[in-house]
Parts: sequence; C-alpha cells; structure tokens
Amino acid sequence: MRKPIIVGNWKMNKTITEALEFVAAVDANVHADADFGIASSFIALNETNKAASKLIVAAQNCHFADNGAFTGEVSVPMLEDINVKFCIIGHSERREMFGDTDETVNKKAKKLIDANITPILCIGETEAQYDAKETETVIRTQLTGSLANLCANCVGNMVVAYEPIWAIGTGKSATKEDAQNCCAIVRDQVKVMYGDDAANKVRVQYGGSVKPDNIVEYMACPDIDGALIGGASLQAASFNEIISKVK
Ligand code: 13P
Repeated sequence: MRKPIIVGNWKMNKTITEALEFVAAVDANVHADADFGIASSFIALNETNKAASKLIVAAQNCHFADNGAFTGEVSVPMLEDINVKFCIIGHSERREMFGDTDETVNKKAKKLIDANITPILCIGETEAQYDAKETETVIRTQLTGSLANLCANCVGNMVVAYEPIWAIGTGKSATKEDAQNCCAIVRDQVKVMYGDDAANKVRVQYGGSVKPDNIVEYMACPDIDGALIGGASLQAASFNEIISKVK
C-alpha cells in the first residue's frame, strides 16, 4: 500500500514570518493517513523545518555540485546540514525559466538520493504538446532522461509529480481520467526502466490547479498517490481543508 503524499509548493511566496504563521496554523492538523508537506523558499527553509513537527518541509530545488562557483545556488550538503528530507527537482518553471534539463535533473536526483533526501521529480507536457497528442511521448522521454542510471530501490522510494504545464496556475485542471491515465503512464515507464517493485512503490502525484473541491476525485484514482499543489497551498485555511479531505 502506498502512503499518499500531498505537498504544497509555495514557489517564490512567503517571508519567514508568513511561513511560520502557516506552520502554526496547519502543523497540528496533519494526520497519519498521508504525508503532508510544504516546499518553502531557501530563505525560510531552516526556520520552517525547525518549527514543523508533523509537516514535511521540502526544498524547491538544489544544485548537483557539492560546492563551487555557482552564484546563487544551494547544494545538497547544505540541505542535509539543515535536515531537509525532500526536494522538488525539475519543476516546469525551472525547466522553462532557469534552464533545467532532464540531464541536470538526473544529476540532482543522484545527488539527493546519495544524501538520503527524497526527490520529488516533476514532469509534464506543454499545452502545444497536449494538443498535438504528444503527452505520452513527453512523459516517457522526460522520465527516461531524468531517471537514468539510478537504482531500482532508489526510484521506488522517489516521488514523481505529473504536472501538465497548461494546468499550472490556470484554474484549468486535468480531468480525473486524463490525470489517472498520465499517472499510470508514469508508473508504467518506471516499470519499463526499473521493474515491478519500483513501479508498485513509487508515489505518483498529480499537480495542476488542485484545490479543496477537486482533491477527493484525484485521490480516488488508482495510480494517483497524492498531489503537488501551488496556489491552494498558500492559505492555511485551504491547505487545512485539503488535509481534512485526504483520509
Ligand atoms: P497550481 O496548483 O497553482 O496550479 O500549481 C501547481 C504547481 O506548479 C505545483 O508545483
């Protein structure tokens, strides 16, 4: 049985003060039926992680080098040092605006796995690719590159977030049938690359305009093990509503 995992991706939102207010309003509501977490900016990461007792606190990115001349970047040993246990990699905003590729995302995944930090690997197609019916090819290609040369057990312990780019921040969410179908393709590609055990274990999230009023229908899908949530994770009230609906 895969334990569901719901993560709020705050993106470039929340000061330290706002992050701590959120934790104070949400942490106690976290229950054992699922893992719940938020991904904060680097600047709020340490204090937010210290303040949270039940919420997972994830990073939103990392660099694949341990240290060096990479102005503005944060390394995996730095995340380890503040006891961060999860890290988003390959979010479409990073792929589109900051040059992340399947190759660099793969290097980040390796680094994180070596440090016992769970990668939350994001993949998903653009609207043009969706319209051209290229979704399955895009998913399989991104996973082939991003998950290359890892160990089967490592991939089984990962989280993969399928986020169609046209559904991110648009209010235009994928139908539950489309979301289920794409998450099943993710699982099948893991099976092709790493076998049945990894495919049965890997937790696959859907992301893209997930809200309190649609979380239940996504979570009812057999291959959807959770959600990566942007906008609806910013207010404690809506995240609390989501927590209460995931049982
Ligand atoms: P929204 O929930 O705002 O569509 O964002 C999804 C997302 O990008 C989470 O990583």
